[in-house]
Amino acid sequence: MDLFDKFDPLIAQKSSLPFEKADPFKVVMEKVLSETVAIIDGRETILAGTNNYMGMTFNEEAIAAAKEALDNYGTGTTGSRVLNGTYSGHKGLEKTIADFYGMDHCMVFSTGYQANLGMISTLAGVDDYVIIDADSHASIYDGCAMGNATIVRFKHNDIESMEKRLKRLPEGVGKLVVVESLYSMLGDAAPLKELLETAKKYGCTTLVDEAHSMGFCGEKGRGLCEELGVEHLADFIVGTFSKSVGTVGGYCVSNHPKFDVLRLVCRPYMFTASLPPSVVASATAAIKALERSGNRRAHLWENARRLHSGLKAAGFTLATETATSPIIAVCLPDPLIATKFWEKLLLNGVYVNMALPPATPAGYNLMRVSVCAQHTTEQIDEITRRFIATAEELGLNVKAA
Ligand code: PMP
Repeated sequence: MDLFDKFDPLIAQKSSLPFEKADPFKVVMEKVLSETVAIIDGRETILAGTNNYMGMTFNEEAIAAAKEALDNYGTGTTGSRVLNGTYSGHKGLEKTIADFYGMDHCMVFSTGYQANLGMISTLAGVDDYVIIDADSHASIYDGCAMGNATIVRFKHNDIESMEKRLKRLPEGVGKLVVVESLYSMLGDAAPLKELLETAKKYGCTTLVDEAHSMGFCGEKGRGLCEELGVEHLADFIVGTFSKSVGTVGGYCVSNHPKFDVLRLVCRPYMFTASLPPSVVASATAAIKALERSGNRRAHLWENARRLHSGLKAAGFTLATETATSPIIAVCLPDPLIATKFWEKLLLNGVYVNMALPPATPAGYNLMRVSVCAQHTTEQIDEITRRFIATAEELGLNVKAA
């Protein structure tokens, strides 16, 4: 028995996809020229699928801070946060984030994935219930599995479905409701106010994953909870540095008085090396810059609206009625067309994410575009033009998609 036998169907499925010149799972950025342009397979390509929403990867203050930290502290900490891996930079970053949210506590993790894994598995144990949206990110599902809590799923963004399930839970058990604010595949927004109010009505603890909304939702860029005025209903807010912050890492903020005990019990925090000092320094500088990036936020939303309306006017079917986020998901009729479309679009100089079932909700075949605040208006229009040209080359009647 070869332990790899179970992957045979996947290997067969993958090799049946008709790529000729490019494989969406093997894209190599040969040179990164800016936040929005890279050389891929020798060609200059507009990046429209990077989650680099606020374009912080080349922020001058973040780069300068990282270089200084490299010189002063070296390339890595070589240890866990609970042993030798806490430098003054880690404490400074946690204070910066706690201040940014106006909350008492912050814990920084080595990735956003680990932040969800750690928070959920530590908060909700074997006797507890985690109530989650069915379209939750893998890190949320994995956090539930790691903690051995009972998972209760409700229909995506459906308050009635959530309430029905909350009503059925036994008395006196621990209940953690976990929701995202903007969903990564379709870019749709959660009805956070109603979801959190319902969770509170049933005495649940709440955790909101703001991975795809931090940086550009809300006046200060704290996320959708800020924008909707419901931060007081979120007991824990989780976020990542790998999108709007432009580097890598994750965090959780909270006002819970016993929060700090998590540093002694949260395994994905304790049993891994802490972030390198240069990453910590660039994240700190980027978050400080984000707080005063009102103009950049406004331009990002202009870009999102312009691309959404341009693609819609061209006849593409989009996953959301309006530009609810910088994620614009273009729906194509089947996986085969999606595969060909993705490849042709790349050859036409635009990189987006191809997302197919089972990785997508409700069987969508998506060209997932994520817009960047550093895209110029000309680049946005160019992306639209190249989408149209690609559809024409494939003889696609996009209106029928
Ligand atoms: N939560 C959500 C909703 C995400 O989409 C992601 C990353 N795609 C994460 C958490 C994990 O973030 P990271 O890249 O920092 O591990």
